[in-house]
Amino acid sequence: MIQTLLISALIENGQNLRIPNDYTWKFTLECSNCRERSPKPVVFNGIDKDSPGDNDRVSVNFYMTCKGCRRQATIDVLRINITEITGTSPELVPFATFECRNTSLVEFFPSDEFEITSTESDTIFKEVDPSDEWADYDEKGQVSVSIEEFNYKLD
Ligand SMILES: [Zn+2]
Repeated sequence: MIQTLLISALIENGQNLRIPNDYTWKFTLECSNCRERSPKPVVFNGIDKDSPGDNDRVSVNFYMTCKGCRRQATIDVLRINITEITGTSPELVPFATFECRNTSLVEFFPSDEFEITSTESDTIFKEVDPSDEWADYDEKGQVSVSIEEFNYKLD
């Protein structure tokens, strides 16, 4: 199953809210077979790949065995930063896609690895957590850059 993470935010004086390829993803999951939910969020890196079991032909970003039904679940990050998140657009836009086998993404937990560029200069802010009413000052462009009302949806 292909799942899409959509996000929206009210951005002031900032453009191109984005994440790096090696972003650390954090989700709670639900088994597609027995509906068991992961008690804690699972964490995986967007570029580290591993082969579950002895099958070297399959390489994924995350795998686990369901505690309920013992089936193996895998997640692979297909694309990130699909749509540029810019300006004060409260509309949900596709941000990343995942290939999920035997599991589905239920909840997304953003980390402070987001980056955003000022609209008034080439200043880049790193280590941004968009879910936590973030704001900083762009000295070069002389504006404050902020992110509010972060929202997401998993489709
Ligand atoms: Zn299960």
